[in-house]
Amino acid sequence: MPHVPVADPGAAALAARADGRWAALEAARPDLAPALALQRRLLSIVIRLSSSMTPARLPRLSLPPRYVAAKLARGVPALAGEPIPVPGAALAPALDLLCRELADGGAGEAAAHIGEHIASGRLDAASLLTASVNRDQQAIREGAIRLGLAPDLVWLVGELAASPFVHALQRAILAGRDLAAALDAWRHGCCPACGSWPAMAEVAAGYRTLRCSFCAAAWALDTYACIYCGDGGESFTTAAPDEARKDRRLELCRACGSYLKTADADGLSPFPLLAIADLETLDLDVAAMEHGYARPALRLFPR
Ligand SMILES: [Zn+2]
Ligand SMILES: [Zn+2]
Repeated sequence: MPHVPVADPGAAALAARADGRWAALEAARPDLAPALALQRRLLSIVIRLSSSMTPARLPRLSLPPRYVAAKLARGVPALAGEPIPVPGAALAPALDLLCRELADGGAGEAAAHIGEHIASGRLDAASLLTASVNRDQQAIREGAIRLGLAPDLVWLVGELAASPFVHALQRAILAGRDLAAALDAWRHGCCPACGSWPAMAEVAAGYRTLRCSFCAAAWALDTYACIYCGDGGESFTTAAPDEARKDRRLELCRACGSYLKTADADGLSPFPLLAIADLETLDLDVAAMEHGYARPALRLFPR
């Protein structure tokens, strides 16, 4: 089953769609109001940055389709291990804005500290963004701990600021018709572009489409099995934690202890609105974790 192109509706339409989903979610879950308010402020920064990532501003990568197709055939995502020149000057201002919003929105001192370290250069913005694009969790964690910063928050800030760039790269690379066959043959649970795990699966028009948590790539698998370890036997089940909401399910795998959220949708969420879909299904994460399931660590690929 192919990689699924997701239409990009443009910044204004995107903002309107986001507002509609936030309003509906806040009406259904008033307890999430503070989380929603913060997400609104963070995503407005990401949407602004994303609209500036025009094809002309992307670096020219030497990734000929035949080379990428051969990588995909080996099970290696297109961008894994590539030297990618990250446009630090374009992305770095967003790091500061994100830290401010996080500091105001509940992360307090921990976020303010990260902002101060970036402003003073003690935490190098370009290195953080490059490590995030390379999905180098270890480098970000070690760097954060060395500076006395909260590793998960540094990871989040780097990921939010780098995501518009990686999303634009993903669209540019995977869109080529030359890659269609190689993407059809992709049988992995991790993203064919950047290697991240999906945030969840959106089921639209009958297809269970995996959605990358970082670059928002969309791809479907034609097997009904655990997307993490491939187990499709008795250890793998699908369950709706809320009997009245069978449109929202969990795929649970006892073989590897991991879970995937699956939700029916009218259409696939455009970047970066998948983050809203993720928050809309927060109760599924809670249910999975209460039963001892977790999301696995990022997969490592050879450099
Ligand atoms: Zn991805
Ligand atoms: Zn599994």
